[in-house]
Amino acid sequence: MSSLAEVFEQINTAERVRNQVCKIVTLRKKLDPDDQEFLTGLLASDDVASTVIEDLLNAQGYDIKAQSIQRHRRGRCTCDSV
Ligand SMILES: [Zn+2]
Repeated sequence: MSSLAEVFEQINTAERVRNQVCKIVTLRKKLDPDDQEFLTGLLASDDVASTVIEDLLNAQGYDIKAQSIQRHRRGRCTCDSV
């Protein structure tokens, strides 16, 4: 049987790998500086739902899910900033 520490390490590693590439970061690199700034503002605003941002970005041809946006907003991705 595995110790709690071993299991914890495995979960942690899986979590890290899964979140290795944050889609927000990948996406941000493709945007113009103005759009980057605007997106940062949207992400920081509590008044804008992640699904709204998803719709906006999808309408612009970027493949991103609200789930990824939410994870980024909660800081559960590899980025240090939201
Ligand atoms: Zn992120």
